[in-house]
Amino acid sequence: MQEVSPTRPKAFLIDMDGTLYFKGQPCPGAIEVVNYLRQENYQLRFLTNTTAKTPKMLHTQMQALGFDIYEDEIFNATYACLQYLRAQPGASCHFMVDNAVKAFFKEIPVDDNAPDFVVVGDYGEGFDFRTLNHAFRLLMNGAELIALQKNLYWFSSEGMFLDCGAFVTLLEAAAGKTATVMGKPSETFFKIALESLQRSPSEAIVVGDDITSDIMGAENTKMRSILVKTGKFKPGQLENPVAKPTWVLNSIAELPNMF
Ligand SMILES: [Mg+2]
Repeated sequence: MQEVSPTRPKAFLIDMDGTLYFKGQPCPGAIEVVNYLRQENYQLRFLTNTTAKTPKMLHTQMQALGFDIYEDEIFNATYACLQYLRAQPGASCHFMVDNAVKAFFKEIPVDDNAPDFVVVGDYGEGFDFRTLNHAFRLLMNGAELIALQKNLYWFSSEGMFLDCGAFVTLLEAAAGKTATVMGKPSETFFKIALESLQRSPSEAIVVGDDITSDIMGAENTKMRSILVKTGKFKPGQLENPVAKPTWVLNSIAELPNMF
């Protein structure tokens, strides 16, 4: 018999990388947990800070791994940014993002000379002196800075790579501006995710492997959270945690025991 928690949520906001899959493979039991949550009629959102891919590309990737999820359940910083810009009709942008992501923003007016916003995401080798200096000048001329996410580096099979946060930090320092960050752990990100579900913070639980993005984001937005010990998790992180998860599980496979 399942014991039903008195504080049973209406929705789960589940991190993808490190929680549902890791290094290109589904985490053990994760596919079944998603099926279980769907069967139990929970509303679901799948979260990621990846901005190099559109929700459509992420959806294809998740389906290939065997997850039964819908494209409109995938919530990344790119989508959060689109919602943020939609709420400011007429605002123009200079984009520092790769072409697939730029196409995702096609409804937003582009202005490369005097934009309202400079939007910085994964731009890989697009970041060079010329492009960064151009962005710097736009900021000095009054544009505001938006960062899709602010991770400083990432790991690939070829080694470590600078991530867009390193360039955002450079632009912030040079232009004396603070970026509005769209990805986890920003409050903006989690608020837009909750709005898309028409739920209040008390009705949702965040599940993730990353204390600094998932758990801190939940704390910023006053949601309960579950830290899973897969993916990025390291035991030392629980000694002086920057944010406190409500619960800790060995992996997402244990979630159906709770709810
Ligand atoms: Mg993760």
